[in-house]
Amino acid sequence: MVLSDNINIATKKGLCLRCGACYAVCPVDAISIDLTTDNYPIVDNLLCTKCGKCLKVCSGMFPDQQPYAQKSLLGTVLNAYIGFSNDAKIRRSSASGGLATSISCYLLSAGIIDGVILVRGNISNALRNEVIIASTSEEVKSCQGSRYSPAYVCHRIRNIDMTKRYAFIGKPCDIQSLHKILTVCPELSKAVIYKIGIFCHHTPNYKSTDQVIDKFGYNKEFISRIQYRGDGWPGYFKIFDNNGDVVFQEKYPVIWSKYLLKIPKRCNFCSDCTAESADISLGDPWNMPQENEGGGKNIILARSRKGEDLIRLLIDNNLITCVKISLIQVLQSSKSLLKKKNSAAYKIILAKIRMNDTPYLKINLHLFFNMAKHISYRVKRIKNIFVSNSSKKDKELV
Ligand SMILES: Cc1cc2nc3c(=O)[nH]c(=O)nc-3n(C[C@H](O)[C@H](O)[C@H](O)COP(=O)(O)OP(=O)(O)OC[C@H]3O[C@@H](n4cnc5c(N)ncnc54)[C@H](O)[C@@H]3O)c2cc1C
Ligand code: SF4
Ligand code: SF4
Ligand code: SF4
Repeated sequence: MVLSDNINIATKKGLCLRCGACYAVCPVDAISIDLTTDNYPIVDNLLCTKCGKCLKVCSGMFPDQQPYAQKSLLGTVLNAYIGFSNDAKIRRSSASGGLATSISCYLLSAGIIDGVILVRGNISNALRNEVIIASTSEEVKSCQGSRYSPAYVCHRIRNIDMTKRYAFIGKPCDIQSLHKILTVCPELSKAVIYKIGIFCHHTPNYKSTDQVIDKFGYNKEFISRIQYRGDGWPGYFKIFDNNGDVVFQEKYPVIWSKYLLKIPKRCNFCSDCTAESADISLGDPWNMPQENEGGGKNIILARSRKGEDLIRLLIDNNLITCVKISLIQVLQSSKSLLKKKNSAAYKIILAKIRMNDTPYLKINLHLFFNMAKHISYRVKRIKNIFVSNSSKKDKELV
């Protein structure tokens, strides 16, 4: 690892995952990011002193080794739940069950924190995102729903006040980069006290969102807001005009499967799909019973004692409803994530053999073990196809 260099190594290799951590820590403001394009961060080489700080916090180039190596598919979990916000309005407007929003609102109203760092649709550029530090429940509620486009969540760490307390909401890679920032700048550990992670399969580029809009032929200038999820579960993709009226809506899974499936290079190598280093991780309960009318539910993983205590506090204050579930149920609901996790070591080793660029990982026995597991899974699948084809042929002959 060349610590005297900067994040140009990550961006040139296409391994940036747009967390914004490099921007947050650069001591000489040499890094610029553009939240309105798919471009990677740019380093002003005239300003850069090659201190290496940006590279130390880059989980695009240096992901945590742990999620690739361990046998457990979900990382540390103290308790797993399925649950939802007891505020019907929050629940209905959220991506899943509204836990991210309810937890943030509670932390603020109870005075446990002063702000939450989170993402929302950009108020003045409807097709793009912005990261805010919300200090009121109203601001938190303006961030409801998932945004399936780049977000650079960590870049806002640069703006925090060290005398205050914050929660941070982000994808698994955002949480990994946050951890790295806290290692490089330990004085921030006292300020960012809760890490709430959301499950993540991949984050599409802005290009994918633009394609949806282009496909339906709307003039971008007349769009005031887009919503990827919300209005029940799994929710609706909606386009709002300048009067706030809905001019287009489609079920979210239709938009996801038609336009948002293109996986960026770096996401392909990702092995942390459930935010293993967060205090609490939140996901969708795919393949589980849902009452569509009332809104959705969350899969909730309490990973740290602090996270578990926080969930208990919300239950005791009648703000959320939660029922414990087994890890097997979590695994069944998140099959596509776990399939991706299982194949990550295989993809990295294969790319290395082909001399392609990959994130930096120590190649060890664990990685080879995970790769072997994935190869045996693929062999079994091919065998199953042959078996089911030949039994079909047998039936046809009969
Ligand atoms: C790109 C992406 C991919 C996902 N893939 C999966 C998946 O495959 N399987 C699964 O079970 N769950 C996935 N999720 C998580 C799921 O969509 C919900 O975000 C999660 O269940 C929390 O729901 P909620 O109702 O508690 O959130 P809400 O109460 O609606 O709050 C959503 C929170 O997520 C934050 N957020 C939204 N978009 C982003 C973003 N791009 N980056 C960082 N933070 C963001 C918002 O700021 C807000 O705080 C994904 C989310 C995203 C953003
Ligand atoms: S000055 Fe340091 S942190 Fe900033 S770009 Fe250069 S190497 Fe990175
Ligand atoms: S720190 Fe984050 S935003 Fe910066 S280059 Fe690395 S992955 Fe990209
Ligand atoms: S798949 Fe992994 S790298 Fe890609 S956005 Fe999600 S958490 Fe980040």
